[in-house]
Amino acid sequence: MNKHVFKSWIFSGLALVFLAVGCEQKAEKSDTPPNIVFIMSDDHAYQAISAYGHGLNETPNIDRIAKEGVIFTRSTVTNSICAPSRAVMLTGKHSFKNGKVDNVQPFNWDQDNFPKLLQAHGYQTALIGKIHLDGLPQGFDYSMVLPGQGHYYNPDFLVNGERKRIPGYVTEITTESALDWLENKRDKDKPFCMLYHQKAPHRNWQPAPKYLTLYDDTTFEPPFNYFDDYDGRGTAAKEQEMEIDGHARWGHDFKMIVDPNGDSTGFYNELKRMDSTQRANWLAEYTPKNEAMKAQNLQGKELAVWKFNRYIKDYLRTIKSVDDGVGEMLDYLDKNSLAENTIVVYTSDQGFYLGEHGWFDKRFMYEESFRTPLLIRYPKEIKPGTTNKKLVQNLDYAPTFLDYAGIPIPEEMQGESFRQLVSGKTDHWRDAVYYTYYEYPSVHMVKRHYGVATERYKLIHFYYDIDEWEMYDLEKDPHEMNSVYDDPEYKEVQEMMHEKLKEQRAKYGDSDENNQKFLKAYLEVYNK
Ligand code: CA
Repeated sequence: MNKHVFKSWIFSGLALVFLAVGCEQKAEKSDTPPNIVFIMSDDHAYQAISAYGHGLNETPNIDRIAKEGVIFTRSTVTNSICAPSRAVMLTGKHSFKNGKVDNVQPFNWDQDNFPKLLQAHGYQTALIGKIHLDGLPQGFDYSMVLPGQGHYYNPDFLVNGERKRIPGYVTEITTESALDWLENKRDKDKPFCMLYHQKAPHRNWQPAPKYLTLYDDTTFEPPFNYFDDYDGRGTAAKEQEMEIDGHARWGHDFKMIVDPNGDSTGFYNELKRMDSTQRANWLAEYTPKNEAMKAQNLQGKELAVWKFNRYIKDYLRTIKSVDDGVGEMLDYLDKNSLAENTIVVYTSDQGFYLGEHGWFDKRFMYEESFRTPLLIRYPKEIKPGTTNKKLVQNLDYAPTFLDYAGIPIPEEMQGESFRQLVSGKTDHWRDAVYYTYYEYPSVHMVKRHYGVATERYKLIHFYYDIDEWEMYDLEKDPHEMNSVYDDPEYKEVQEMMHEKLKEQRAKYGDSDENNQKFLKAYLEVYNK
């Protein structure tokens, strides 16, 4: 071997070593666990996200997540009410397994939740905004939460358990605090998971100072079934107390300082919370509108349409600030080269009625409150512009996050990871989902019920002080105006759906005995 050949061997060898090291480094880098930004708003109806195509408002920033990722068109919750839904998301277990079946029962933070598991595997975790679960949150390196429902103006926060009042508007404060944690409070060498959870657009829909007059020049048409007479459905739909025209309050909801009946119990407490500038701004914008309304002396349907407009405008105004915040978050991730390796999720703790059936609020297994928005961006695995129509649920979030992070999913979690489904690697998915609701008697008076839904049909059983079944064919009746439960033409469907219900209850471990146990516990507190 001459010197020259030997030298070139050495060089090729070195080159190979460098190449190998380079590959290894590259492989290591792509194995870095993804970050998670889990954005949730409270009571954000999919009808009020423009990516869902209802034409009600524009949410360009939330839409960006759909354009650059996936939008789920049939994502549902297992229990359509705030705190129980959050407990399901954290634990990956149905309400009757995690114990938080209603807003009355305490949440047991000692059980496993996905942030705890991420934390145990080297993630840094933070919870910023609204969680609406009592007790010091477990599983977070940093928490900054609103106590209970929290306030829109000058809210108190519990910062790692310590109470502080922060001047300003809640949605903007929550966004600024989330960005501050990302920039200044985390260890930038670790993967992170941040729960960035907005209070808006929860009742009573107080807009930010800069959006008090947004939509002033617009008149919104109520949905076609705003004046629903509930014919075709059972007692539960007829006896609820969720009507915009019948049950929303002049002061609290419609922001009349002195209402048309001369009652001044209205909006005073909310005004007291504001500082003098905030209050002066608010009164300057709302007083003339309120006076103009009173001068018109509206009655009947005209008054009901005015109420719908006051409701929907305030609701959409609060969403404008939420959307702004999503834009700031996406921009931050872009500017800091975090977009590629960060999973961004946008969802709500349930759906919401925007005048459908005449209602506001949620609770029912009917579509508007059963369905919830879900949009996810993760450039490494999700193709831009993906639409997914499968029956995913909030039950699936915890196992999905763990799957993305490469952490084993605990046996007791009842949801399923939809990671492979959303990347298109499989089309295999469940054909039915299970639902339970327990909070009755209570505000809004939606009766206790449980049910099963497939892509086309839905079977619901209302129980306790009634014993009624309803069934809907969503293909023929997407707005659920007529139960076909007793229709002879649907005899076979009815049998099939009863069978599905039985399967679902067996699969998840639910029963009438469970319902009786939770009813007894609820009534003990309720009757006190
Ligand atoms: Ca909620």
